[in-house]
Amino acid sequence: MHRTETDTDIFIVGAGASGLAAACESASAGARVICADGNDAPGRKLAATGNGRCNITNAFCNALVYNRDAVSFVRRIIHSDTVEKTVEWFENNGLLIVEEQEGRCYPYSGQASSVVDMLFKTAVSHGAEFYFGDKITSCSSEDGVFVVRFESGCVVTAKKLIIAAGGRAGLRFGSTGDGFGFAKSFGHTLNAPRPALVACESDDPAVEGIKGRARARVTLLDNGSEKYSEYGEVQFTGTGLSGICVMNVTRYMRAPRPAGKRKMKRTDSLPAQTEEQHDYIIRLNFMPELDAEALAEVIFKSMEINGITLEEALSWIVNSRIAKKAAALSSGADVRETAERAAGLLQHFDVRVKSTKGWNDAQVTRGGVRTSEVNCENMESKIIPGLYFCGEVLDVDGPCGGYNLQWAWSSGFLCGRSAAEACDA
Ligand SMILES: Cc1cc2nc3c(=O)[nH]c(=O)nc-3n(C[C@H](O)[C@H](O)[C@H](O)COP(=O)(O)OP(=O)(O)OC[C@H]3O[C@@H](n4cnc5c(N)ncnc54)[C@H](O)[C@@H]3O)c2cc1C
Repeated sequence: MHRTETDTDIFIVGAGASGLAAACESASAGARVICADGNDAPGRKLAATGNGRCNITNAFCNALVYNRDAVSFVRRIIHSDTVEKTVEWFENNGLLIVEEQEGRCYPYSGQASSVVDMLFKTAVSHGAEFYFGDKITSCSSEDGVFVVRFESGCVVTAKKLIIAAGGRAGLRFGSTGDGFGFAKSFGHTLNAPRPALVACESDDPAVEGIKGRARARVTLLDNGSEKYSEYGEVQFTGTGLSGICVMNVTRYMRAPRPAGKRKMKRTDSLPAQTEEQHDYIIRLNFMPELDAEALAEVIFKSMEINGITLEEALSWIVNSRIAKKAAALSSGADVRETAERAAGLLQHFDVRVKSTKGWNDAQVTRGGVRTSEVNCENMESKIIPGLYFCGEVLDVDGPCGGYNLQWAWSSGFLCGRSAAEACDA
C-alpha cells in the first residue's frame, strides 16, 4: 500500500545491503525512516551473495584492498566502522558469524537469507517503514526538502535523503544503475561505471572446450604490459575463464576494444591463431614455483624415463584437459625441444579476452559517484547538504572475499548514524 504523500526524517533509496544497514542504524537512533526498494522484497542481491552463503566480511579487510583512488576515503570509514565492530553488531543482533579460509567470514547458518532476514527484522523492530515493489523514478530537492517520486505516482518528502541504490552489477537483482542518475541529477559526477568481478569470454583456441579447475598465477596483460597478478584457482568454462583470480583481474580491465580496432601483438609462445588481435591477455602460469628450465627437465625426464607421451607427462602436472591442449600445441623437433616448448606453454598459457560476461553476471561495479564529492566523516554530499550516499553507488570496489559487503556495512552504518544525528541537530 502506498500513500499519496508523506513526510519522514530520512528516506533511503534501496533496501539492499547498505540501505538495510543504514535503516537499522538510523531507526535505532530514533529517526523516522522510510526505506524503499523496487523489488518486492528486501536484499534480493544480498540473498544471492557467496553462492547463497553470504561472504559477509573478511577478517583481513583494510583500505588498501579497495580501488587506489578511494583508499584514503575508505580508510577513514573502515576505521570508524571496522570489521570487528561489524561482526559484533551482527552477533549482538543474533546473527553468529564464523571465519573460514583467508579471513572469509560467513553467517553460522550458512544461509545468506538469514542475513537479509536479520537486517530487515532489526530495522523494522526499530520502527523503520518499508515500501516494496514500486520503483523510484526521481529524487530532487525542493524548498529545503527532498522529494522522492515513484513509478506508481506516490510522492514522499524527507528531511534527509540516503542514496543506497547500488551500482549496475547483477542487473537481475534490481540494481540497474538508477542511483547514478539520481546522483547526477543532484550535480554529482561519476567515474565511468563498468562491470567487475566477472567471468571472461574468449574465442582463443587455447581454452576452447576446456572445462575444469586448475591453480595458476593469473596475470593480466594490457598491450603486453602487466597490469595485475594473483595466484589461486582458475575455472575453465568451455567458452572462457572464471574463478576468483580471473574475476579479480577484471577490476583492472576496461571494455575490450571492438574487433577491427584492436592493436594487440601476441607476446607469448603460442602460434598466432587469428589475424584479429585483442587488447587483453590473461596469462596463466600453472607452475610458478619452478623456472622454465627446471620444469622442462621434469617433463623431459618424465617422458624419457617412463616412456610416456607428452600429454601423459603434462597430465601429471596439470589438469588433464589442459595437458591435452598444451600437448597439442607443443610439438618440437625432438623430446628435449618438445619438453621445453611444453614448459614454456605451461608457464605462459595465454588466453585472449574477447569480452567480460557483462553487467548481468558481474558481482560489483567499478566506478560510480566520485568519492571526492562526499564527506568521509559522515557520508554527506559536499554538493547538496542533507544528501547522503552509501554502498556500491560510490566509486569504491574491492576484490572477491567479503570486501564489497564490508564496504556496504561500514558506509551504510556511518551514513545512517550521521543522517539521524543531523535530523536531531
Ligand atoms: C551474485 C553476487 C554475489 C556476490 N557475493 C558477494 C559476497 O559473497 N561478498 C561480498 O562482499 N560481496 C558480494 N557481492 C557484492 C555485493 O553483493 C554488493 O557489493 C552489495 O550488495 C552492494 O550493496 P548496495 O547496498 O550498495 O547495493 P545493492 O545490494 O545492489 O542494493 C541496491 C538496492 O537498491 C534498489 N534500487 C536500485 N534502484 C532503485 C530504484 N530506482 N527504485 C527502487 N529501488 C532501487 C535495488 O533493487 C537494490 O535492492 C556479490 C554480488 C553478486 C551480484
